[in-house]
Amino acid sequence: MKLILLGPPGAGKGTQATRLTEKFGIPQLSTGDMLRAAVKAGTPVGQQAKAVMDSGGLVSDEIVVGIIADRMEEPDARKGFILDGFPRTVAQAEALDAMLAKKGMKLDSIVELKVDENALLARIENRARETVAAGGTVRADDNPEAFKKRLEAYRVQTAPVSDYYASKGVLKVIDGMAPIDAVTKALDKALGV
Ligand code: AMP
Repeated sequence: MKLILLGPPGAGKGTQATRLTEKFGIPQLSTGDMLRAAVKAGTPVGQQAKAVMDSGGLVSDEIVVGIIADRMEEPDARKGFILDGFPRTVAQAEALDAMLAKKGMKLDSIVELKVDENALLARIENRARETVAAGGTVRADDNPEAFKKRLEAYRVQTAPVSDYYASKGVLKVIDGMAPIDAVTKALDKALGV
C-alpha cells in the first residue's frame, strides 16, 4: 500500500500514520521527522533547514524532494509507505509523480484529513503539554507564533496540493475532527481495508 495523508498541522496525520504502520507493516515517511533528525544530527541539510523550520516556514522543494527520494530507495519502502507531511507544494507533488513513474510505482490512495482550523492551535498546545508531561522536548515550532506561519504555509502552498489530486479524481476526504478511533475507522473505509 502506497498512500499520502494530507491535512494541516495538527490534523492527526502522524497519529493515524503510526496506526497504519502497525497495521500494514509499512514505514511512515515523515519529512518533518527526517528533517528534525537532520537538525539534531547537525548534517548540512539540518543546518540549512533549522531556521526556516523553527519559524514555521517551508524548507526548499529541492532539499525535501532529495531526502524523500533517498528514503524511498531503502528496502523497507519497496512494498509500500505512508507519506506524512509530503508533498507540501504542487512542485513536490509533481516531483513525486515523476519519481514514482521512474520506479514503475503507483499511489493507491491520497486521503485528506479535513479539520476545523479553529481547533488546531488547541491541538498543538495539547501536544506540547503531553510531550512535557512525558518528559520529552517540545518541538521548536509548536508555539503560537510559528504555528500561525505553519497554518499560513498550509493555506497558501499545501491546500493547492489537495486541489491537484482532486482534479485528477483521486482525492478522498475524511472528517479529521472525529475522535481518533473514529478517524481510524473512516480511514480504513476510505482505503477499502
Ligand atoms: P511536520 O512535522 O510535518 O509538521 O513538519 C515540520 C516542519 O518541517 C515544517 O513546518 C517545515 O518547516 C518542514 N517540512 C516538513 N515537511 C516538509 C515538506 N514536505 N516541504 C517543506 N518543508 C517541510
